[in-house]
Amino acid sequence: MHINLRLTTFLGIGTMICQSAVSQSAAQKPNIIYIMSDDHAYQAISAYGGILKDHAPTPNIDRIARDGIRFNRCLVTNSISGPCRAVILTGKYSHLNGFIKNEGQQPFDGSQQTFPKLLQKAGYNTAIIGKWHLISEPTGFNHWEILPGQGNYYNPDFINKDGRHREEGYVTEIITGKCIRWLDEAKKSGKPFMLMMHHKAPHREWQPGPNELTLYKNTTFPEPSTLFDDYSNRGTAEKTQDMTISKTMRIEEDLKLYKDQAKMKNTGLNRLTQEQMASWDDVYNPIIKKFYETGPEGNELIRYKYQRYLQDYLACIAAVDKSVGKVLDYLKANDLDKNTVVIYASDQGFYLGEHGWFDKRWMFEESYRTPLLIQWPGITKPGTVNNDMVSNIDIPETLLEMAGVSVPAEMQGRSMVPILKGKTPSNWRKEHYYHYYEYPGSHMVKRHYGMSTERYKLIHYYYDIDEWELYDLKADPHEMKNVYDDPSYNSVRKKLHKRLLKLMEKFRDSEALAKSFLPVK
Ligand code: CA
Repeated sequence: MHINLRLTTFLGIGTMICQSAVSQSAAQKPNIIYIMSDDHAYQAISAYGGILKDHAPTPNIDRIARDGIRFNRCLVTNSISGPCRAVILTGKYSHLNGFIKNEGQQPFDGSQQTFPKLLQKAGYNTAIIGKWHLISEPTGFNHWEILPGQGNYYNPDFINKDGRHREEGYVTEIITGKCIRWLDEAKKSGKPFMLMMHHKAPHREWQPGPNELTLYKNTTFPEPSTLFDDYSNRGTAEKTQDMTISKTMRIEEDLKLYKDQAKMKNTGLNRLTQEQMASWDDVYNPIIKKFYETGPEGNELIRYKYQRYLQDYLACIAAVDKSVGKVLDYLKANDLDKNTVVIYASDQGFYLGEHGWFDKRWMFEESYRTPLLIQWPGITKPGTVNNDMVSNIDIPETLLEMAGVSVPAEMQGRSMVPILKGKTPSNWRKEHYYHYYEYPGSHMVKRHYGMSTERYKLIHYYYDIDEWELYDLKADPHEMKNVYDDPSYNSVRKKLHKRLLKLMEKFRDSEALAKSFLPVK
């Protein structure tokens, strides 16, 4: 098949000899590259194991785990894009940084303190390239070039200080090229650098790149054990959500089984040039034809949709994985690998058919946990696996401590540097606070707050219902049974309620406190 999308080329790789002042200053202050993808489930990173690891490996992302540390329990505070990004910049919970949801949200207040501003003040050259999703213009960056809103996969628009323009090519490859070119300039500046490379992929509607269009089209992936979850033993929130593969996932826009080509404009497929479209048609037209000929129904249709979903989702990730490989190779070829911390994360986790779902939002494991891999050459022992309860709210403080910058008191996380150095403090957190707000809204996941410990999860759905749930992850790792009203959990439930109240006070979540929803049961 002929591929027509223009590939971004990288100038200068391997041609620069870098024994400069940069390396010397970086010896004191490490360079930092923070790579974040959008909606990348840990279940889809082979370093994390799982049922997909042999079918869709991520060898380059895995290099960071091999050369650094893999966090198994990095929890997010509010599992949705913009809010997670705001938490990572500010180190503050959503109710304090002001960016609580995506839909109907005011622009991010860029006048508040952020870690890029503090790094910049400490002499770092800072940049963000790729997805931003916070409405306002980035602040605290020497250089920024972002996608408008969610951005497009094909021939995307970018916004920078000069305005908006369109570029031809595939978004993941274009972002990678921009980052490499920026690094090429940054290394000459004599300053340490901090780059945030933020991919759009693998966000819905999971449109693969020209080099991965055919990658998994003949692959059959294993199914998660909860694909046909009926939500029995759980409450109203689980039964009334709108995020199932069965009902919510669209045959045309999501799975690209178009009957009506006019719908292509809803997902940006109309941005393809005629030539690019011909290549796309070569791959998808036979799939579309076969689908409407065979017409699967019922559970067979759910199974079919799951496979089509994963084929495209994982193909998007394959391009992200190549991007990570290019950055790692660039650092090595330019003698920057020893002085550069590389972090790989997603904004939050994602469902790959677990509970019959796609999307995120919930405090259940797949969306509550985000992948986090960090290599810090000479400091973090290669191949470390960590099970401490860390959080995305810890990222800014960690990066500040790495750079020797003092942390403002208003930040609410905790630096992971001691863990990265191999020694978890004895008073490291044993519980984690969560609050999700986007309801009513897309996917209709009811507002909830809650807290988790290593073993338990206490969740309260408030707003238009008043229902509590309690999960025992030891007895029920897939979170299929709410035991809140089970008398054998009476004392656990009471203790968790008290701890939840303390967390609300600690993190100054006055809205949740004011609800006074904590029942005495
Ligand atoms: Ca996301």
